[in-house]
Amino acid sequence: MSRTAIVTGGTRGIGAAIAVALKQAGCNVAANYAGNDEAAERFNAETGIPVYRWSVADYDACVDGLGKVEANLGPIDILVNNAGITRDAPFHKMTREQWQEVMDTNLNGVFNMTHPLWQGMRERKFGRVVNISSINGQKGQFAQANYSAAKAGDLGFTKSLAQEGARAGITVNAICPGYIATDMVMAVPEKIREQIIAQIPVGRLGEAAEIARCVVFLASDDAGFITGSTLTANGGQFVV
Ligand code: NDP
Repeated sequence: MSRTAIVTGGTRGIGAAIAVALKQAGCNVAANYAGNDEAAERFNAETGIPVYRWSVADYDACVDGLGKVEANLGPIDILVNNAGITRDAPFHKMTREQWQEVMDTNLNGVFNMTHPLWQGMRERKFGRVVNISSINGQKGQFAQANYSAAKAGDLGFTKSLAQEGARAGITVNAICPGYIATDMVMAVPEKIREQIIAQIPVGRLGEAAEIARCVVFLASDDAGFITGSTLTANGGQFVV
């Protein structure tokens, strides 16, 4: 598919796999990231995918950054809202900063990226928005009131916007990955990781490429009848 795509948090982990898979599917891809220049430069050298640094938590930075991407690559057809962070703490210890940072990136970031692109997609009568939510947005998780609330918010956003985009040829879908072997999960202490794997019926963590294949499908021209959906990819850990 010869479409232009942007993947937020596209230089590491799941986002990097998504960016590479979209490129392999024929898209013209840009990858955004927050601040890890070293990882971004390595990713760019390995893949040839251009990288753009700004925080999705900053609306004006999104407008500015997206303007640069569109000036270089042309109008964006596919937006993958993948950037996400964790600031885990049991609620009685959770600070306002931990709450706010997660909301600003994982929920407000989705608004900040989608809003500036929405009008262009409407005018061109085509768009694909894929939001990377989480299993923990579906089921909740101890010490993740902030993360689970933001990720559940992404699902509500997806369902509402799908209804608004449908007549304009824009689909909006969400993917809820289970536990995937990325830096985010490998940062969890090994003992806890083993406990997590014991709860996954397929008996292993997921691979970033497995989520990327879901995105390529939902972003394809062929998926035009699928909108407002939540695709669960979690090895059977939580069945909805
Ligand atoms: P990683 O921590 O491996 O990578 C996160 C990426 O997001 C990095 O490229 C990072 O940039 C970028 N990022 C973080 N904050 C911002 C920001 N404010 N603006 C722009 N980019 C930002 O994450 P994963 O690959 O593990 O997770 C990707 C998504 O999948 C997240 O939304 C996560 O919540 C979700 N998810 C992950 C699961 C897992 O098991 N890994 C399970 C379920 C959902 P930089 O490199 O500059 O720091």
